[in-house]
Amino acid sequence: MSEPSIFTRILGGEIPSEIIAETENVFAIRDIAPKAPVHLLVIPKREEYRNVVELAAGDPDLLAELIGLASSLAAEHADGDFRLVFNTGPNAGQTVFHVHAHVLAGGLEEESLGA
Ligand code: AMP
Repeated sequence: MSEPSIFTRILGGEIPSEIIAETENVFAIRDIAPKAPVHLLVIPKREEYRNVVELAAGDPDLLAELIGLASSLAAEHADGDFRLVFNTGPNAGQTVFHVHAHVLAGGLEEESLGA
């Protein structure tokens, strides 16, 4: 058994972070190192999928639920427009292998293309 991911530990209250929104199967927090005026993370509550490719193949409804919450949050925290980033693999900057979407919004610079 591998250790629970940092996001599972946040969801369980072991690491402090405010859960700013949730649905049945996904939750959202603020990124601790924001790269845009609004930088949120939307995360499935279960960590069985390591990246978005596995998530899309294994549970497309869960991916749709995640994107739905991302869209609602962009409307709530910015003007509704947003950039959705899934870093996939270490060479693309992925550091947490519990799939999560970066929601970037609120006045984006080109350099925030990478989250
Ligand atoms: P990635 O590099 O795509 O795997 O994204 C992981 C993200 O998690 C990074 O943008 C980190 O800044 C963010 N992060 C790491 N630890 C925390 C934490 N305790 N609370 C909120 N965000 C975090």
